[in-house]
Amino acid sequence: MQAKLDQIKASFQKELLSVSNEDSLREIEIKYLGRKCELTMLLRGLAQMSDADKRTFGKAANVLKLEITEQIENKRSELGIGGSESTLDVTLPVEPLQMGKLNPLTSLQYEIEDIMRSMGFMVAEGPELESEYFNFEALNVPATHPARDMQDTFWLEDGNLLRTQTSPVQIRTMLAHGAPLRMICPGKVFRYEAMDASHSHTFFQVEGLMLDEDTNISHMKAVMAELLSTLFGKEVKVRLRPGYFPFVEPGMELDFSCLLCGGKGCRVCKHTGWVEFMGCGMVHPKVLEAGHIDPKKYQGFAFGFGLDRLAMMRYGIHDIRLFYEGDIRFTKQF
Ligand SMILES: [Zn+2]
Repeated sequence: MQAKLDQIKASFQKELLSVSNEDSLREIEIKYLGRKCELTMLLRGLAQMSDADKRTFGKAANVLKLEITEQIENKRSELGIGGSESTLDVTLPVEPLQMGKLNPLTSLQYEIEDIMRSMGFMVAEGPELESEYFNFEALNVPATHPARDMQDTFWLEDGNLLRTQTSPVQIRTMLAHGAPLRMICPGKVFRYEAMDASHSHTFFQVEGLMLDEDTNISHMKAVMAELLSTLFGKEVKVRLRPGYFPFVEPGMELDFSCLLCGGKGCRVCKHTGWVEFMGCGMVHPKVLEAGHIDPKKYQGFAFGFGLDRLAMMRYGIHDIRLFYEGDIRFTKQF
């Protein structure tokens, strides 16, 4: 073993003498220090030796390895090739930085805000952590009301809750601004629901309210048709069906004409030619009173729709969970 090491050392030193340029130095470096060099093989062979031999020859082999490394480095500076620092080339292009992009829900929200502002609606915000009063009582849903079961609520230990709808912002905005009033409130809402491709415990709603002395349902139809037509870049028809929501009277559901099949019927519109879009109606007098607005003088409509569903239809996304995973490969596509 020791003889073998001596032999490697001798032949290395002999060959090193004849080195005159970078290429031949590199060759020697690979031959004596490379992954398949004799020295490396010897070191691997140590495993089969006795403990005493391992110590003796292991040490000797490592000493030789260091010697060879040092001599090669010396030769390198002798030849003026420079050390390893010179391999850092500051002119090389850097790895491109990954740029972020707005979530499609956010960009769609901004678009809706712009369109609604152009029709004179203000954009309001409200707290996501709400009191029971604003989320239910003020919206004509008292504690005994069966409609409370329609929304599975995340309750907090102190009796507050995560808002199940953006509607409490209606009350807050009425109290802050009075009537006449045009407002929308886009925001996050929370329901105690299992996640699947079409449900999420967190999702986005857009709430809207318009109050004046003679505001009526025809105004709402016009506003929604304008919003949807501008969003989709072509004329969208809307229709109303009776519906029930405690905070409106009469309550309605609004559908819009299916954009995928042009009304002929397809899988998305369940072959009806219409897509269910939102709940709406004329604001209940009790809700106006909770907002300190005189229901004998003012009236108007309110609506609320899901931003996620609208974005899914617009961009052809089939799984709501994609919006909330924060995967840049997803957001970059929009
Ligand atoms: Zn269709």
